[in-house]
Amino acid sequence: MSDDCLFCKIIAGEIPSTEVYRDDDVFAFEDINPVAPTHTLVIPVKHLTDVAAAEEADTELLGKLVMAANKIAEKKGLVKEGFRYVINTGNDGGQTVYHLHLHIFGGRKMNWPPG
Ligand code: AMP
Ligand code: ZN
Repeated sequence: MSDDCLFCKIIAGEIPSTEVYRDDDVFAFEDINPVAPTHTLVIPVKHLTDVAAAEEADTELLGKLVMAANKIAEKKGLVKEGFRYVINTGNDGGQTVYHLHLHIFGGRKMNWPPG
């Protein structure tokens, strides 16, 4: 846990969130400012600043993040029509919260290329 990290505080329950999924390694909750009918954030319980900060030892954790996202996508009925996962990274990537998170977007047609 990083003391000044918003998402670590959410995992700890110090800041409220709408929980979607939780296990020992992964936590998921609804984005506070959804930009699609489904907009869920999937984060590792372990504080990692961004995906680029992941090390070889985090390989399994990254897999767990995607597998948890898949479970959520399935549960929310997104698989038939499709969905999008996004991991914004750093300033150019549009990252605003520096605790690694995977966005799940679904429920509408996504645009390409991203803005
Ligand atoms: P990013 O721009 O990829 O770093 O995404 C950060 C996301 O966190 C944005 O989509 C925000 O709407 C979302 N967010 C910020 N604060 C909260 C919060 N307290 N609860 C839920 N989502 C949040
Ligand atoms: Zn954190």
